[in-house]
Amino acid sequence: MLNEKKIPLGKGQLEAIAAEYPTPFILYDEKAIRENARRFYKAFSWVEGFKNHFAVKACPNPAILNILLEEGMGVDCSSLPELLLSEKVGFEGEEIVFTSNDTPAEEFSAAARLGAVINLDDIGHIETLEKSAGIPELISFRYNPGDARTGNVLIGEPQEAKYGVTRDQIVDAYRAMQAKGAKRFGLHTMVASNELESTYFVETARMLFELAVQIRQECGISMELLNMGGGIGIPYRPEDEAVDLNYVSAGMQDLYRRIIAPAGLDPLKIVFECGRLVTGPYGYLVSRVRHVARKYKDYIGLDACMANLMRPGIYGAYHHITVPGREDQRAEKIYDVTGSLCENNDKFAVDRALPAVEAGDLLVIHDAGAHGYAMGFNYNGKLRSAELLLKVDGSVQQIRRAETIDDYFATMRFPGAPVNI
Ligand SMILES: *Cc1c(COP(=O)(O)O)cnc(C)c1O
Repeated sequence: MLNEKKIPLGKGQLEAIAAEYPTPFILYDEKAIRENARRFYKAFSWVEGFKNHFAVKACPNPAILNILLEEGMGVDCSSLPELLLSEKVGFEGEEIVFTSNDTPAEEFSAAARLGAVINLDDIGHIETLEKSAGIPELISFRYNPGDARTGNVLIGEPQEAKYGVTRDQIVDAYRAMQAKGAKRFGLHTMVASNELESTYFVETARMLFELAVQIRQECGISMELLNMGGGIGIPYRPEDEAVDLNYVSAGMQDLYRRIIAPAGLDPLKIVFECGRLVTGPYGYLVSRVRHVARKYKDYIGLDACMANLMRPGIYGAYHHITVPGREDQRAEKIYDVTGSLCENNDKFAVDRALPAVEAGDLLVIHDAGAHGYAMGFNYNGKLRSAELLLKVDGSVQQIRRAETIDDYFATMRFPGAPVNI
């Protein structure tokens, strides 16, 4: 097994936590998040001013964002609430990248007020930005290479994507900003999601390096910031191999020496916007078996559902599942692992081999630390779960309480609405 899927707590410890905070909950491992952040930064230590701007959408919890701030990360925001959340946590100025699309004017104003790096998704947004916030000194564009690159299953082919400035538009986009008085320039792309092929990211660097040189040649702009986007995958399956960050870094460094340095663009700051890689493997959805049912197939019914983690339901994504206390037992049974939503795709796993389980057992769904809680919803009256942090000292802190019925009613306006809301 290439990566061992193991929660850093035994069954007894999990039961003790569940006695205080009822299941389901997501538990994040602070120590592992910090160690992983340090590995990431160490791999790119040759880059002057290297930063990962954590994609807030992957895990929008202030306690987690604060850990990442302490580890030297910035943030990548795509909406006003994400900008305000980042501001509250203490991110400032160019630590914040604002990569949005179909952006409302007031969000540009907020990003400009914070001094964030504004990353424009479209040539047409230049006008919206100018009207709402003026022309900033530093501007970045999101580049969409179209058929010059192939995408992957999650994000789709670049020429089908709604994002970014095209090959034909990109040089003109910089010229336009230059003419309007921008002085500093960045270039961004995001062409893959959950990609596990290490060479893919080296090729993305090559694409941006070559484009930076071309833009220099065509309009004399010295790019100062290259943003490789996010999309570095994680090994959801035990047999998957993680992206080798040292390999990616070495490949990028080699291209940097061959393309960037001779063009006189050195030093060029290189950053990422990874979310999944940063917290994905270090969050666990802990749930309890409500029922084991035998129909045409065998079902495990959990107290968690798609509202807690919708990736398996919407993408058919694999998430590893273990049964605390039964890790060493043979996976002798085949189950569909379901939630209680009235949707037949509310399944965490289909035809999964697991040890025989019974009602009351705990189940751990792995790799729920990114795009997990964050994608939750209230469909079918489901309430979102709590988020807990396993701290470095071994204590557990609740960093978001579970929703209550009052939360469910909070926005409804009708004569019989509960009072005090
Ligand atoms: C979603 C997103 C990210 C983060 O993607 P991960 O797969 O979590 O690394 C980064 N940048 C942009 C523009 C995104 O939309």
